[in-house]
Amino acid sequence: MIRRLLARLMPGRPAAKPRVFGPDKHSIRRSQLSAGARSVTRKLHEAGFEAFIVGGAVRDLLLGIEPKDFDIATNATPEQVKPLFRRAFIIGRRFRLVHVHAGAEVLEVSTYRAAQTGEDATDEHGRLLSDNVYGTQADDARRRDFTANALYFDPETETIVDYVGGVADVRARRLKLIGPPVTRFREDPVRMLRAVRLAAKLSLAIEPKTAAPIAKLAPLIQNVPPARLFDEMQKLLLSGHAAETLKSLRAHGLAHGLLPLLDVILEQPLGTRFIDAALANTDARVRADKGVSPAFLFATLLWHEVLVTWNARKAKGEKPLPALFEAMDSVLEAQAARIAIPRRFEATIKEIWSLQPRFEQRAGTRPYRLAEHPRFRAAYDFLLLRAESGEVPQALADWWTRFESAGPDEREAMLKPDEAPARKRRRSRSRGRKRSADSDGGAGDAPADGDAQDQADHAD
Ligand code: ATP
Ligand code: MG
Repeated sequence: MIRRLLARLMPGRPAAKPRVFGPDKHSIRRSQLSAGARSVTRKLHEAGFEAFIVGGAVRDLLLGIEPKDFDIATNATPEQVKPLFRRAFIIGRRFRLVHVHAGAEVLEVSTYRAAQTGEDATDEHGRLLSDNVYGTQADDARRRDFTANALYFDPETETIVDYVGGVADVRARRLKLIGPPVTRFREDPVRMLRAVRLAAKLSLAIEPKTAAPIAKLAPLIQNVPPARLFDEMQKLLLSGHAAETLKSLRAHGLAHGLLPLLDVILEQPLGTRFIDAALANTDARVRADKGVSPAFLFATLLWHEVLVTWNARKAKGEKPLPALFEAMDSVLEAQAARIAIPRRFEATIKEIWSLQPRFEQRAGTRPYRLAEHPRFRAAYDFLLLRAESGEVPQALADWWTRFESAGPDEREAMLKPDEAPARKRRRSRSRGRKRSADSDGGAGDAPADGDAQDQADHAD
């Protein structure tokens, strides 16, 4: 009660009365909204409720960027929203909202929320535990993270409602936290990652007062539940600006808590080259609207940790393939404690890694079998990055590039001599199971290990 009163009296608190920008004062038009956004807001209006486009979409439209989705804010409760639509589902426990399906689109409709106050609203680090108290539109604006994200666009009147100076900040290309930065970052440390991600993605400058406490508060990232961290990491890495974002995370002291040993990896010349190549490649794919697999990306980010562990085990005399499998498991396990990589990704990550030693095998039927492996494409793309970073010879990658597109005769001619000793040697394209160890002997390639190859075969 007293706290709330104090907050009201505090200087610098945004005025309760918003600035309203009419259609002559900005460039956003109703026609720029998706069909679903228009129809859902219209229905809510017709039922007597307020309905605004809010958040990232308004910000993006002001910046001249096409929004990737449209979120709607309303004074209707989820129970009032749901019956208005044929396909609408109330979702979320901590933060209840309605998913309205309109054609292929899903619109998120959320009820105005107020910031939580009081002793039990936060944990001992100041992190908000709940977010489910309804409030006014003004309350809703203030509980959002950045001023640029707290703008409301009314499709009916084409006006923008601004409680926090967001329009001016967007125009100045400034990303500014609403309210006192330390408190707001403590409430939700993920906001630090969002600041860095949004600034990189939208070419905005983080306002100095917002940026100042980040380095000191960075360790609070450790208190964020791993699943939430994974979601944010995924957004960050698939933004099309991953290379820049990761650089900025490092500059703000945020990278370390996310991927253990990332700093160490980036200090090794090969590690930096590998991750740079991987991120540049991902960014190019995202920008060209090509698919990107999160599993592939996490496989690249963790590869050098696997290599370090694998090499250490081999140096102790362990056989290469069992050592690789052990290394993969230990790296993924360590990572799970920080970022919960979903199980469905783990299987793919392991496949990409475990196929790597098989690229060394270029005799007999093995190359054919590898080329037909369901995960060949991803594993091959991974090999290209290893070559680009100098970890394996470029000639090896080039060989596979050629082999992949070659016809049957050229493929046959490309095969390396089979140097397996005593066992039966067969050089054919037959799909028959062949148990001998293929050796390559090419410069710079690891010697083949018959035992190890058997294990890799079983791992198919
Ligand atoms: P993107 O373009 O990445 O989707 P966005 O700003 O739309 O960016 P969302 O995660 O979709 O991000 O969130 C929608 C809105 O919800 C934000 O614009 C902001 O107003 C609010 N929001 C999201 N995360 C937070 C947070 N951690 N704290 C406060 N408000 C948040
Ligand atoms: Mg969004």
